Amino acid sequence: MKTKNNGVWDVIVIGGGPAGMMAAGRAAQEGKSVLLLEKNQSLGKKLLITGGGRCNVTNNKQNVRMMATQYKGSDQFLMSAFAQFDVSKTLAFFHRHGMKTKEEAEGRIFPASNTAQSVLDVLLNYMRAGEVTVHTHVEVVGFLRNQEEEVFVIQPKKGKALRAHTCIVATGGTSRPDTGSTGEGFAWLKALGHTITENNMALVPIAIKNGWVKRMAGITLRDIKLTVLQNGMRQFVQKGKLLFTHVGISGPTVLNMSKDVGELLSHGDVVIELDLFPHYDAGTLRGRLQALLTDEHNKKLKNTLPAFMTAALVPELLALAGVDGETANHSVRHEDRLKLVTCMKAMPMHVKGLLGAHKAIVSDGGVALKEVDFKTMQSRVVPGLYLIGDVLNISRPSGGYSLQLCWTTGFVAGSHV
Ligand SMILES: Cc1cc2nc3c(=O)[nH]c(=O)nc-3n(C[C@H](O)[C@H](O)[C@H](O)COP(=O)(O)OP(=O)(O)OC[C@H]3O[C@@H](n4cnc5c(N)ncnc54)[C@H](O)[C@@H]3O)c2cc1C
Repeated sequence: MKTKNNGVWDVIVIGGGPAGMMAAGRAAQEGKSVLLLEKNQSLGKKLLITGGGRCNVTNNKQNVRMMATQYKGSDQFLMSAFAQFDVSKTLAFFHRHGMKTKEEAEGRIFPASNTAQSVLDVLLNYMRAGEVTVHTHVEVVGFLRNQEEEVFVIQPKKGKALRAHTCIVATGGTSRPDTGSTGEGFAWLKALGHTITENNMALVPIAIKNGWVKRMAGITLRDIKLTVLQNGMRQFVQKGKLLFTHVGISGPTVLNMSKDVGELLSHGDVVIELDLFPHYDAGTLRGRLQALLTDEHNKKLKNTLPAFMTAALVPELLALAGVDGETANHSVRHEDRLKLVTCMKAMPMHVKGLLGAHKAIVSDGGVALKEVDFKTMQSRVVPGLYLIGDVLNISRPSGGYSLQLCWTTGFVAGSHV
């Protein structure tokens, strides 16, 4: 077991999430004595719930520049870190440690076992092999740098202060505080002179006022288009998949637009129109509907529409359009067909708000990137301090990009401490 020398560790890592574990394992592999401190009873509590428990480890963008551009506004900073540990090196790392992976839609990569536990096991074995000392159930309540002795003094809630030559802060952001990510790291870093951009929830589900949306809870629609409007004016459009929940809407497409919807909400009401048939214009759709009603002219409208669209939506569509589903197809009036098609192209959803931290995937905000040297992940403000993972102010979409940041920044920090 590698231990401290004269009472001082080479490295203390605060936070046992994916970024902290990667950094600790890598630093230990480089021959350093490493102590990892985690306030939960066990490591990787959030990691285990990622990707619905399956963990979307990364995204298959093997070209460094293409990967970096996914992090809008941060790509220039990230290039030097990705140049050291990119997606292909990440995959090679997990494969080398015995975890097979598989690729799903939109390049999302998951463990072949379909469980996040496989990812955690790799990290635990990596740290074990490097002889990292892990202390769980240790909450750090603050730290400072002793300038004269050039050491960090880290104070746990209980017990004596710990000392280290270098310190890696991997305490995460503020999403899902129940997993331990409560954001206290930001207060310490601010006190040490770092600029912290306020934390806003970035990828979050959207709460909707309309009852019909809630009645659809559990239904997923593929290949739809969402148009976001404010004061009747089109703001932006997203295409993809939609998941209805008991409070509103979610799924990757919704999560990715949530930040922009949040910004619009600060200016007034927001309506999202759902287009069930983005590949047809209204005229084509009317023609297809008319053809179907002619084919099945003796059936009732409510019994024919399920052949045309998601069955659970049919009663909601009929109610929204104000059309009687009991009508026989041969008697559906021209204006009713128009109303149905108008609704199919634009089912209105009135936004109530964004769900809070307890439902967020990642929080935005954190340490200003210009204050970090991305070649090493060392702070430009405090020598010997390294900052990784969700503590950094980096916006990213859903799809494995958050964890890739943890692997990259953790590996780079661990290589340079
Ligand atoms: C529901 C959900 C699903 C997600 N799914 C995915 C996905 O599939 N793919 C993806 O790429 N990303 C996903 N993410 C995002 C991803 O989980 C985070 O980006 C990632 O966990 C950040 O890692 P981290 O190590 O920086 O911080 P965290 O995972 O937040 O870990 C920080 C750790 O620090 C500890 N800590 C905090 N303060 C202290 C203290 N004072 N003393 C000691 N320890 C402390 C915490 O207990 C915690 O264990 C998901 C997030 C959520 C909430």
